[in-house]
Amino acid sequence: MSEFSMTIDGGGAATETAFPVTNPATGEVMAEAPESTRGQVDEAMSAAARAFESWQYDRPLRQKALKDLASAVEANLEELAEVITMEEGKPLGESRSELGDVVNDLRYFATLEVPAEIVRDDERTAVRVLRRPAGPVAAITPWNFPLGTAVAKIAPALAAGCTVVLKPSPYTPLSCLRFGELSRSVLPAGVLSVLSGSNEVGSWMTEHPVPRMVSFTGSVATGKRIAASSAPDLKRVILELGGNDPAIILDDAVVDDIADALFANAFANCGQVCVAIKRVYVPDALHDELVEALVSRAKAAKVGDGRLEASEIGPLCNQMQFDRVSELVGDAASRGARVAAGGHAIDGPGYFFEPTILTDVDDGLRIVDEEQFGPVLPVIRYDGIEEVLKRANATHFGLGASIWTSDAERGSALAPRVDSGTVWVNTHQSAVPGQPFGGVKWSGIGVEGGPWGLLSFTEVQAIHVAK
Ligand code: NAD
Repeated sequence: MSEFSMTIDGGGAATETAFPVTNPATGEVMAEAPESTRGQVDEAMSAAARAFESWQYDRPLRQKALKDLASAVEANLEELAEVITMEEGKPLGESRSELGDVVNDLRYFATLEVPAEIVRDDERTAVRVLRRPAGPVAAITPWNFPLGTAVAKIAPALAAGCTVVLKPSPYTPLSCLRFGELSRSVLPAGVLSVLSGSNEVGSWMTEHPVPRMVSFTGSVATGKRIAASSAPDLKRVILELGGNDPAIILDDAVVDDIADALFANAFANCGQVCVAIKRVYVPDALHDELVEALVSRAKAAKVGDGRLEASEIGPLCNQMQFDRVSELVGDAASRGARVAAGGHAIDGPGYFFEPTILTDVDDGLRIVDEEQFGPVLPVIRYDGIEEVLKRANATHFGLGASIWTSDAERGSALAPRVDSGTVWVNTHQSAVPGQPFGGVKWSGIGVEGGPWGLLSFTEVQAIHVAK
């Protein structure tokens, strides 16, 4: 792979040190990424503060720039897809689809307006409420959708009039670095800087006096640290954190109708999706049929290097995640779980793990209670609706959930009783343009997507005029 450079104040930034980025399908180093210094964080923040002065007032420029960024991504889509697949592992088709979301986000927020609201307008008094951009934003993102999670912040933040300093995960910095390079000919200097480096670079950003907001996507543990480090300066935080989404199968569901969608929504991106199905609750009467359907799909799935078009499931993204998944499966097996499919790492280079279905599991087991973030799905029996709702909600997580039934109205009526930011009925992970997305409890603070996502990057200003 060619060189990748950081973008600071509209140009490339040289660094003395670099760190290796590994292709998870081969276990080999595919490229090096620059390691940002603390001084470069300062430079990027100063540039963001300078650019904010005029960017916040120039909506036509913002609209044009977001549309031009979308076109730049489209024009480079195949190269970016290959970079995402090589740094993260997902099959090329999934990388293209991530980039499709990136293009859609940029175009959606380019035209989304936030109208002023009138509270009163009579002979004596006029009160209107504006939404002003929050200020420079520190954006910090994870590795599972390297460019998708970044642009889910950049697009609404820039549209709202904020400027952004982005730091992607050190496992997958390359697609964001390339996006930064593409942005140089589209955005005014300082509007978007892209740094790369270790977790420490992220903490320099959240502690820095310039950003007025930290927008973070990643794990619950890091989200708590970021909330704590943003507190002394009262920075606003948006936290999009982990999940442990339950899929609740109702007794009227038809297994043949739902098995493909259940499997796909548990194993897409090798299970490394914040809103993947991470535990399935099924009534006794449907248990065996559902397990058989999932097992046959797990055994048939083609696992391989994401660059091969035949591959349906790629490797886990990194050694840390590979070790974690191996540990959770080992723990479950040692505590009486039945491995109905898979259960082992795949021999050879790369972080490949067999698609795994576990049965004879229950709440209290780590694989059920924790976020596995990998190609492993526990199937759990339940007896009645009240019981399963209680068990689905008995967790610190609250990102997504789904209800599967042949009666969509019945599912829809139960949905508000699940404690999560999104509840799907007969689907999971689906979103239409304009739909908000966020978590409750430990799964996050604030939302992305739709008008709510844009408003997240603003502050309310009331203007009260005595006539
Ligand atoms: P992570 O929390 O380990 O790292 C995320 C980012 O935070 C990285 O860029 C990392 O360098 C940085 N970071 C780490 N420590 C920091 C600190 N002290 N200060 C500032 N920055 C710091 O998460 P991960 O392992 O990369 O991502 C996986 C997690 O992300 C999963 O839990 C997944 O569910 C979650 N996720 C959530 C969403 C969502 O929208 N809710 C989307 C994707 C992923």
